[in-house]
Amino acid sequence: MRPEIRALSPYHVPDARGLIKLDAMENPYTWPDALRDEWAALLRDTDLNRYPDPHASGLVTQLRRSMAIPDDMAVLLGNGSDEIIQMIAMAVAGPDRTLLSVEPGFVMYRMIASFCGMRYTGVPLRADDFSLDLAALLQAIADTRPAVLFLAYPNNPTGNLFDRKALAQVIAAAPGLVVIDEAYAPFTDQSYMAELGRHDNLVVMRTVSKMGLAGLRLGLLAGPPAWLAEFDKVRLPYNINVLTQASAEFALRHQAVFDAQTADIRAERERLQQALARLPGLSPYPSAANFILVRVPAGRAPALFEGLKERGVLVKNLHGAHPLLQDCLRLTVGRPEENDALLGALQQLL
Ligand SMILES: *Cc1c(COP(=O)(O)O)cnc(C)c1O
Repeated sequence: MRPEIRALSPYHVPDARGLIKLDAMENPYTWPDALRDEWAALLRDTDLNRYPDPHASGLVTQLRRSMAIPDDMAVLLGNGSDEIIQMIAMAVAGPDRTLLSVEPGFVMYRMIASFCGMRYTGVPLRADDFSLDLAALLQAIADTRPAVLFLAYPNNPTGNLFDRKALAQVIAAAPGLVVIDEAYAPFTDQSYMAELGRHDNLVVMRTVSKMGLAGLRLGLLAGPPAWLAEFDKVRLPYNINVLTQASAEFALRHQAVFDAQTADIRAERERLQQALARLPGLSPYPSAANFILVRVPAGRAPALFEGLKERGVLVKNLHGAHPLLQDCLRLTVGRPEENDALLGALQQLL
């Protein structure tokens, strides 16, 4: 085994059986019965004996429409956007090449850099509001000359958007590719999709996971055809299976259902934000995503996490994950009654 693999811990997914699941940024809503029936009928007529359409052309057409991908940009699909991060890293990796990101950020950037034998540098965000430390980031770009820079927009686990003027400077200064990871696009009106083509090193990554299709595993990269043609070479053939192609295309034809669900989640986010701010000792951070990062009284995050679990609510404890996340929990926005259970349990514990 390579030493850097032996040094890793596997990605841990906690057992959520019997718990209100507010740990993984899933959409809490399922589909109305009529839609489920229509979907089941479609699957009834979907054959599994042949390999899938290698270009997933029906699905790509639907994704272009749903996500307003500019016509002159190419699209590459992944088995989740995690697989796209992996394809990008595999294509640019080398022992003296750097994947750059900010911290606290999405942990898969660092892990995948390690899987692919790349260097990783994480530039700390500003401690007070998790905004970009532009001077530090520009310095890191100058020092490491990153082959690729990943920025989640909004950021996970902090929930904030970054300043667009600062991002423009970052994109201009980066000598390599800049990936804007818009996993939380359904929960904000901000996007870089319309910026594609204006900077020759910019690509945008999306996923259908957070909008309500996490079980399908489908992500996409949109960007200049010359870049995507290279990444396509490291894509394993048939990476998007027949059931995912059929189901995602079907779901996106019913976009209105998901739009209504994500609008409800956005409204609940505001309610939860305000209710958390009223609880003693809690400081919730502003969020443009479907989760809220909250700082709890010093030293109490592990006990609050366990106390919530005993009361049937699973959240994410980030205390210990990064120095800037000391005393922090991350709460996914759930259904109103789930959020009420969370708030009630927090009230008791505090
Ligand atoms: C959840 C998440 C992803 C992973 O999405 P999948 O498509 O489910 O693999 C990527 N980036 C960020 C920032 C995320 O939070």
